[in-house]
Amino acid sequence: MNNKFVGAHTSASGGVFNAVNNAVDIGAKAFALFTKNQKRWDAKPLDAKTLDLWFEALEKSGIQPKHILPHDSYLINLGHPEEEKLQKSREAFVDELERCEILGLDRLNFHPGSHLVKLSAKEKKDEVYLRDVENRCLDVIAESINIALDKTNNVKAVIENTAGQGTNLGYTFEHLAYIIDKVEDKNRVGVCIDTCHMFVAGYDIRTREAYDKTWGDFDRIVGRDKLMGMHINDSKPPLGSKKDRHHSIGEGEIGLDAFKFIMNDERMDDIPLVLETIDSEIWKQEIELLYSFIKN
Ligand SMILES: [Zn+2]
Ligand SMILES: [Zn+2]
Repeated sequence: MNNKFVGAHTSASGGVFNAVNNAVDIGAKAFALFTKNQKRWDAKPLDAKTLDLWFEALEKSGIQPKHILPHDSYLINLGHPEEEKLQKSREAFVDELERCEILGLDRLNFHPGSHLVKLSAKEKKDEVYLRDVENRCLDVIAESINIALDKTNNVKAVIENTAGQGTNLGYTFEHLAYIIDKVEDKNRVGVCIDTCHMFVAGYDIRTREAYDKTWGDFDRIVGRDKLMGMHINDSKPPLGSKKDRHHSIGEGEIGLDAFKFIMNDERMDDIPLVLETIDSEIWKQEIELLYSFIKN
């Protein structure tokens, strides 16, 4: 039996409960949201009235917490090279995890972090040098996760793969595995794979053969039990371009076949499959399209 839960990253403007209502409006069975303004450091705590409306909306929607994938603030960099900014990020990350817990959610999606080192052209080409810079940052990220998990109770840290733009890490399966390896509580760490990011990072999924190769690598390097959510996006830039620009499903360089494979792949059962495509006006149709791919 097919067991897919598709939705979109809906707006929580006006209150987190609006993200639930906006998801219901587009026929979503899953959704993502920011639990605070993603462009600001500070946020007021979730008040009793907001929580009442959240739990009420959630119950009416029938959407289960495990199919909700909150996303943390873009300001947070858990691998920041400067001590003060790293501390600020670590504190904000703990706050994000606590907000999820208060909302009854079990996972938090975040981008691992950026090393921010200005590399010369020569250094960029020097693989050993580059790997050393990256690994040192991945160590800091893992430490940040350990500290945050220690300070909180049960929300899982879900690391998103990135496009590899700028100095962002997490663009290879090896990066994700490296971090997970250093996280002490393995039961509280997982990954979210973004199809656009995966594709522009150089992982092809456009043909049956390429798809099976890429996900076989994922199973071997990261482990399929670690997949706790996906971002379902087509890509404007081509394979391996390392540019993060999403497109509507079937409109970009990835094309429809990859999404047909996903909708019939049991790896993606029972986890939130979240659209972050560029035209929110057609999310309802995109969700219907994705469900229409299921063969059973
Ligand atoms: Zn994403
Ligand atoms: Zn993206």
